[in-house]
Amino acid sequence: MATIGILGGGQLARMLALAGAPLGHRFLVFDSAQDACAGQVASLMCADWRDFDQLQKFAEQIEVATFDFENVPAETAEWLTSHTRVFPNPAALSVAQDRLQEKTLFGEVGLDTPIFAAVDSIGELRAAIEKTGLPAVLKTRRLGYDGKGQFVLRQHSDVENAWATLGGVPLILEAFVPFDSEISVIAVRSRSGEFRHYPLTRNWHRNGILSASLAPVPVDGELQRRAVARARALAERLDYVGVFALELFSFDGKLLGNEMAPRVHNSGHWTIEGAACSQFENHVRAVLGLPLGDTDARGCSVMLNWVGELPDPTPVLAEARAHWHDYGKSPRPGRKVGHATICADSPEELIERLQRVGRALNRDDDVAPVIDVLANR
Ligand code: AMP
Repeated sequence: MATIGILGGGQLARMLALAGAPLGHRFLVFDSAQDACAGQVASLMCADWRDFDQLQKFAEQIEVATFDFENVPAETAEWLTSHTRVFPNPAALSVAQDRLQEKTLFGEVGLDTPIFAAVDSIGELRAAIEKTGLPAVLKTRRLGYDGKGQFVLRQHSDVENAWATLGGVPLILEAFVPFDSEISVIAVRSRSGEFRHYPLTRNWHRNGILSASLAPVPVDGELQRRAVARARALAERLDYVGVFALELFSFDGKLLGNEMAPRVHNSGHWTIEGAACSQFENHVRAVLGLPLGDTDARGCSVMLNWVGELPDPTPVLAEARAHWHDYGKSPRPGRKVGHATICADSPEELIERLQRVGRALNRDDDVAPVIDVLANR
C-alpha cells in the first residue's frame, strides 16, 4: 500500500483516487481551494502552491507525487523533486505549460503543426499574420485551457481588438485549421519505459469545451499508426512517466498537433467503463512502477460532458451500460461538473441508447454528430 500525493484536487484527482483505492492505495491531495472536489474521496491539504512548509509536510506523507493539472508553478514541481519522487518529471510539465515550446517540440519529433509564430507585440502580431494567413487563432502561451485565452482573427481590422483582449503576456499566433475532426491519443508510459495507448478517440467541442468523445474512432490504419508513433516519440523524448493526451486535428488526410496534456484527460474518461484498464488506474500503476494494464476497448463508448450544471440523471441511470459521474462540484457557467459514459457491444446498439438519452435530456445537438459518425462507420 502506498500513499500517492496529487497536486490539484479537481475531478481528475478525484477519479485517480477512486481508481487507485481498489489496488489498496491512499491519496493525499494538495490544493489551494478548501472545497476541492477530490477532498470528498481523499485526504486534502489546503495551502498555497508556494507554501513550502506545507509542501514539506505533504512530501513527508507520500511515496510519490503527481498532478491533476498542468499549471502547478514550475518552482513548486521542481522543489518537490528534491523531497520526493515526482511523475511526470517537471521538465515535461514545463514544456506542456507553454504552447510555443510544445509546438516546437512537436516539430522536433516529426509531428506537423498548424503554422505558428511567437507574438510579443502588436508589430509582431501583424508580422505573424503574414506567416499564418487569415483566419488565425491568437492564444496565450501559458495558462490557457478549454478555449480560454484565445481570439480568432478573421480580418486585418481584428488586430487591435485581439491585441487589446490578450496583449501584455507572451502569445502565439496559429493558422486556423478547418479540420475534418479532432482526435486524441491517450497513452501511458511506465517507469521502465513500457508504452501503451488506447484506441483513438474522436472529440467534439462546444464553446471551446469538450462536449462529447467517441472511442474507438474509425480512422484509417495508417493515420492511426502515425498518431501513435508521434505520441510515443514525444513520451520518449520527454522521458515521460504516466498518462498523457496528445490532441490532434485531422485535416485533409494529415494529422496536425494541437496540444499535449501532461495528465489524465477528459477525452479519456470513457476508459473507466469502456476499456479493460482505465486511464486513471494506468496512471496510478505507471507512477508507482507497477505493470501497466490492458488498454483494449470493450465494445464502443461515448462520453457526454456536463458543463455548467448537471442534468437529471434518471434517463442515463435507466439505460443499460450507461454510467453517471457527478464530481460533487457546485454549478457554475462553463464549469465541468460531471459526465456520462454510454457503452455498447455494437455501433447500432450505441446509436439507440444515445438517441434515447439525447432526447430525454434535450441534448440532441450534442449526440447528433456522434450518431452520424457511428451510422457511417
Ligand atoms: P485548445 O485550448 O488549444 O485545445 O483549443 C480549444 C479548441 O479550440 C480546440 O479543441 C479546437 O476546437 C479550437 N482550436 C484551437 N486551435 C485551433 C486552430 N489552430 N484552428 C482551428 N481550431 C482551433
